[in-house]
Amino acid sequence: MPASYEAVIIGGGPAGLTAGLYLKRAGIETVLLERVLPGGAPLNTWRVENYPGFPEGISGKELMDRFSAHAKAFDLPVREFTEVMSVSPDGGRFTVKVNDGEITSAGVIVATGTEPVKMDIPGENELIGRGISFCATCDGMFFRDLDVAVIGGGDSAIEEALSLANIARKVYVVHRRDALRAQKILQERAFGNPKMEFLWNRRPVEVAGKGQVEHIVLENVKTNERENISVNGVFVYVGSRPNTGFLGDLVERDEAGFIITDEELATLTKGLYAAGDVRKKTLRQISTAVGDGALAAVSLERYILGSKR
Ligand code: NAP
Repeated sequence: MPASYEAVIIGGGPAGLTAGLYLKRAGIETVLLERVLPGGAPLNTWRVENYPGFPEGISGKELMDRFSAHAKAFDLPVREFTEVMSVSPDGGRFTVKVNDGEITSAGVIVATGTEPVKMDIPGENELIGRGISFCATCDGMFFRDLDVAVIGGGDSAIEEALSLANIARKVYVVHRRDALRAQKILQERAFGNPKMEFLWNRRPVEVAGKGQVEHIVLENVKTNERENISVNGVFVYVGSRPNTGFLGDLVERDEAGFIITDEELATLTKGLYAAGDVRKKTLRQISTAVGDGALAAVSLERYILGSKR
């Protein structure tokens, strides 16, 4: 017999852990399924400065350890290293197929977040883990007093470039336009940092090196001129795409693949809700993921109670 719950939460980032806390507090039998370990995207963040309640800032890892501890305090079971293969609605219940079996539930909250987009250029696949990284928090310390390039101009790129500037000798920021997308406060700090150099209007076209990154080839998007920049590391922050492959056509998506929900975070499929970065929304932050987790949990609780009447 497959394990049976009232609610299954898929994904253990800020949205999923918040939903778990709310559902357990409401007395709903819930399990959280996590592909690796709980924590989600903030685990890749050196310092979180815009989550209320932490005026000095807090490391992404410490904040998420607190989220996990809070959910645990309400006895939320978290199944780690559990990958969801498919979700199928059947006669008012869902069957969730995972790598080691099946779980059934009355409702599901999808809080699977996003994964980083690759540059998709020659040399990238060969040199991932050999100088190319998607996580400055995880790998930055390997580049003490060395030169690195950060690709991208969004919040992630600039936040992590600033943290790398504490470790590396030099941080090149390579951006395809001549203006950053990142928040103003991050831009001001970056422009004032003597270790950072901005390479505007350039896109990466190749990463090269014998077994280890040695240089990156950049193309000027205006003149098409190419240049080699010698670096030991390349940190890639060119956006992210939602993790929704296992949902098939149970949900409606926007052109970038993010799940479209209504105001209660319900999807196309009755009993299936989406929360956090995986959802089409205008602001992706820990604070908005927490709001989503709470709302999806309350909506699912109402759905479950309504269908019992
Ligand atoms: P993002 O905001 O989508 O930024 C991606 C950056 O990569 C953009 O500057 C984009 O250039 C560039 N880019 C995209 N494709 C490229 C390509 N093929 N080659 C070169 N450059 C390319 O992604 P993100 O920074 O990972 O942030 C994701 C979400 O999380 C955002 O909503 C962000 O606000 C949020 N976030 C918030 C915080 C915070 O509040 N502290 C921290 C991290 C992330 P263009 O600008 O030209 O499009």
